[in-house]
Order: sequence, then structure tokens, then C-alpha cells
Amino acid sequence: MRGAATRAGNAALAHGAPDAGPAPDPRSARPRRGATIAPRASYRTLAAWPPAAAECAIDLGDNTNLFGVPPAAAEALRRAGADLVTRYPTPFADALRAALARYAGVAPGEITTGCGSDDVLDSAIRAFASPGGRIAFPAPTFSMLPAFARMNGLTPVAVPAGPGGSFDPERLLAARARIVYLCSPNNPTGTPLPRATVSTVLERARGLVIVDEAYAEFAGETVAAAAPAHGRLLVVRTLSKAFGLAGLRVGYGIGAAALVAAVEKSRGPYKVSALSEAAAVAALTHDLEWVRERAAEAVAIRQRFARELSARGLAPLPSAANFVLVPVEDAAAVAGAMRARGVAVRAFARLPRIGDAVRITVGPWPRMEAARDALLAAVRCG
Ligand code: PMP
Repeated sequence: MRGAATRAGNAALAHGAPDAGPAPDPRSARPRRGATIAPRASYRTLAAWPPAAAECAIDLGDNTNLFGVPPAAAEALRRAGADLVTRYPTPFADALRAALARYAGVAPGEITTGCGSDDVLDSAIRAFASPGGRIAFPAPTFSMLPAFARMNGLTPVAVPAGPGGSFDPERLLAARARIVYLCSPNNPTGTPLPRATVSTVLERARGLVIVDEAYAEFAGETVAAAAPAHGRLLVVRTLSKAFGLAGLRVGYGIGAAALVAAVEKSRGPYKVSALSEAAAVAALTHDLEWVRERAAEAVAIRQRFARELSARGLAPLPSAANFVLVPVEDAAAVAGAMRARGVAVRAFARLPRIGDAVRITVGPWPRMEAARDALLAAVRCG
């Protein structure tokens, strides 16, 4: 038996079987000392997420809230006792679910939470699509999406969006994907999806529809209220952006109770730390006015910033989020030159129908003046 198993293993290795495991030592049943093990086949082409870039005086690279920490959340963190640290949190963050349900106007059973909305997306994809399936989305969109697809053994199907970010929902539906992902306002373009487009996808898609509303607080548009009754819609949101709590890693999803229950199975217990839950609940209970005011400030500054760039010959895309995407000739060179002037932005190369572009987070005006000057100097030098 053992010999047969070894021969089968060697044959599998000779044919390059993807998940064959470590090369066996022919003299024993044990794997060779130090032998490595191959990850699942799709991981061969999956690049690891790059490590953090060096710090920069003004960081406008990640679309977080640059206007400070919500005060009640900061106070909750200061007051958190050691017992929060020594004990596990509740497995499914019940207090947070209740606070999010009040905020979103749904029932607690219609909310799932996670370690950032990244985790909610990943859990939902795992729960609703089997390896080998497809996930379709308009491109460009949130760069983690194709990564989550590959991590879960799915094929990402990118459907290029048209001018102005519009896209034909028929082309997306034609992919007959198990999951359709929409992001509104979209990252990195800032474009909000027309309601009619979202409605068509919601009516016609047979599988799970994810609408990522990470930036909804800046746009004022949401389909969250429709999610529980729809049945196949999961609206994904985060406290990392308008709520200013990115470091706490709190994301959530809104959907029908049965759909949410499946995502919770995939998520597993203890994904939101007790400290994060305490601060998030405080923010959702006491800081909503703070969040609204800061979001309105970000929108006003975004408009001023975009006007100033347009007046100087650049063409920032119309945005409904807390960032603007500015097409440039060579994004890596422009981002490098801006960094040399102390301003970090995110560079994108060859975006479909847009080309190279830099994405700039909107923060307090003095930082935007620095960004404007650094960008103008970079494009003039380029
Ligand atoms: N969705 C979109 C569209 C995003 O831009 C981001 C963060 N950049 C996320 C989800 C993930 O955010 P988080 O995990 O911090 O909630």
C-alpha cells in the first residue's frame, strides 16, 4: 500500500500536479526534511499585497478620514479597561450589530460584521461561490476585488466601464457570474453608479450581488434599505472612511437574514476585537453628527480642490467620494515626484479607458494646497 501511495505521489509530482504537497523521501513515509509545500494552484499567480510604503509628511494615499478621530470613540478607547483585553469579545459582535442595525435602519439579524469590510467581502465571496466560479465587476474598481477572487479560487471577470464610469449592465450580466460586484461611489474613480444601472443588475443577476458602499457617507446615496427584502443583495460598508476608524478594522454587511447567516458562517467567530467594538459602538451612538459634519467638509474641500486643478489644465474625474482621481501621463513618476515633495498619493497604471492616474484623498485644506502644488510641479516637470 505504502509503495503504491509513493508511486502515485511521484507520478503526480512528475506531472506537476498543483497540490501534490512536499516531495516524499523515497526511503520513508516522512516528507524530506526542509521540503516546502506548494500552495493551492491559483496562488502561484497571486501576488502578495505589498508592504507599507515609507512614511510621508502628508499621506493622501488611502482615502481615510484625515479630519481626526470621532470624540466618543476616542474616549471609549481611553476608558477601555483591562478586562476588555483579557477576555474574548462576543463571537459575533452583538453590541456592534445592534448599533449598526440602528444606524442602517435594519434588524440586527440583517447585519454581519468583520475585520474591516475587506473581511466581509472575503467571507461573502467564500460563502457564495465555489472555487472555479466567476465574479464579475465593472473595471476599474477596488483593487482588492480580483485579489479576493483569486484567493478564493474564483476567476475575476473585469468588464471595462465606458466613458464617465458608465457601463452596460447587460455586459456584466452576460458573464453569468455567481457573484456580481458593484462599488458606488467607485474606488478609484469616485464615480457613483446610476440608480437605474444598479436596479437592472439587482433585478436580473441570478447570484449574489455585492454593492460596496465604503464611501456612501460622502455621496448620500445608498441601496442599504432595499437589501434585506431583496434576498440576494449584500451591501458592504466600513467604519474606515467617513467614521475615521480605519485602524480599528471594522466593516459590516447588510442583507437578508438568511444571506447574512451564511456570511457569518464563513466569517467565523471573534473577528472584531473588543476594543474595536467598544469604540465603534460609541461612535455609532454619539458621533453621528461629527461624522456628518466631517463628511460635508470633505465634500466641500473636494469640490474646491477639483476646481483648482481644472483651472490649471488638469482633468480630475467627477467624484462623489472623499478622493479625486487625476489622469496623468506617467502615474508612477508623478507619485514619486509628489512624494519627494512630501505628499503621498496612490498611483494607478493603465486603468481601462482612463490610462495612468493618481488618486488623492481629500483632507483639511492646507494639505490639499500642498498636494495641488506638488502635483502641478510633478506634471510640469514630467
Ligand atoms: N471597499 C472599498 C471600495 C475600499 O476602497 C476599501 C478600502 N480602501 C475597502 C472596501 C476596505 O476597507 P476596510 O477593510 O478598511 O473596511
